Amino acid sequence: MKRSFLDLLACPDCGTPLEPSILKEEKFRESEIWEGLLLCRQCAKSFPVIEGIPRFVPNVLSLFPEFFKKYPEAAKIFGGSQADFVKVHGDTQERFGHEWMNYPGAMAEDRKVFLDETQVPEAEWKGKRILDGGCGMGRYSRVAHELGAAVVALDLSPALIRLNDIVKTSERMHLVQGNLMKPPFRKEIFDIVYSIGVIHHTPSAKDTFDQLAKLVKPKGSLSVWVYGAPGSYANFKTNPLREDRKSLDNIRFIVWLTVWLREKISDTLRIFTVHIPHKILYALCYVLAAIGKIPFIKYLTFSVHPLWRVRLQENYDWLTPPYQSHHTKEELGEWFKKNGFKVLKILPHGFVPKPGILGIKSS
Ligand SMILES: [Zn+2]
Repeated sequence: MKRSFLDLLACPDCGTPLEPSILKEEKFRESEIWEGLLLCRQCAKSFPVIEGIPRFVPNVLSLFPEFFKKYPEAAKIFGGSQADFVKVHGDTQERFGHEWMNYPGAMAEDRKVFLDETQVPEAEWKGKRILDGGCGMGRYSRVAHELGAAVVALDLSPALIRLNDIVKTSERMHLVQGNLMKPPFRKEIFDIVYSIGVIHHTPSAKDTFDQLAKLVKPKGSLSVWVYGAPGSYANFKTNPLREDRKSLDNIRFIVWLTVWLREKISDTLRIFTVHIPHKILYALCYVLAAIGKIPFIKYLTFSVHPLWRVRLQENYDWLTPPYQSHHTKEELGEWFKKNGFKVLKILPHGFVPKPGILGIKSS
């Protein structure tokens, strides 16, 4: 962890700046905090830095027992209730951790997907301080970094260590393991905050959205997309379609019905799948990945990506998370407005709606 990162961090509970107590340093480009504690004087709590990453998840004691064996004093002043956290977020952390540790890695399509889905033009990333809210293994953080941004990548799972190669060689990459519902940052510090396909996996997408909105500087941008709900047909038919999917406009009602049916199938399947041990579920998703190649029927599965490896991952991604909420562009637009943002762009999509909005914060 770079010392400069301390200027952005704050206690997730009370917002007070944190004081470092360094236990071990490592030298990469410069000397960094490899092991240590970040203290909040206000709450009399501390948050550990383990393997160079500040950790703001209360179950860090069970995730990194070696650290607390090495520094038993650290466990005594550690903040937060482990049991409450695990009850609410434990499965999400474990299941997504498994997914992202098994994800193949950076892909050629990542830059295009990232630019399309954030809706922020390529030229606007350079020199900006940005937050990737829910980075997983960091495929989009990697792109933002390549485009010249100073990146803060946050995830609930430890899979963000897959960005370590960049951390060690660049001054523009910071990692933090934390909870988007309680982000460990000072307010209004980011030029761009994006969260791509993440906040619908928290217990309340709306509450998480409100937390992200607070981190954006005045005149800064916030880009969020969430899983789509069919909503009313009157609203559905106003959803923007991608250029290559304009022909769907002629069968809009059938599309709406299919999306509605798909949601019912999904809700029913998920009653069971969220309780299947995640490694078994991962194996079962090979079947869905195969169906994802069959014309039309493929839309009843949860990925129609041309690469089977990605279909496998996206089906698992759909069926495994304990929390999954669906929203309309109207609902998401309201969240932006209530937080003082003007809606700049709405994400066009294919068959299944994917409400995504880029908003700018009022000054
Ligand atoms: Zn505090």
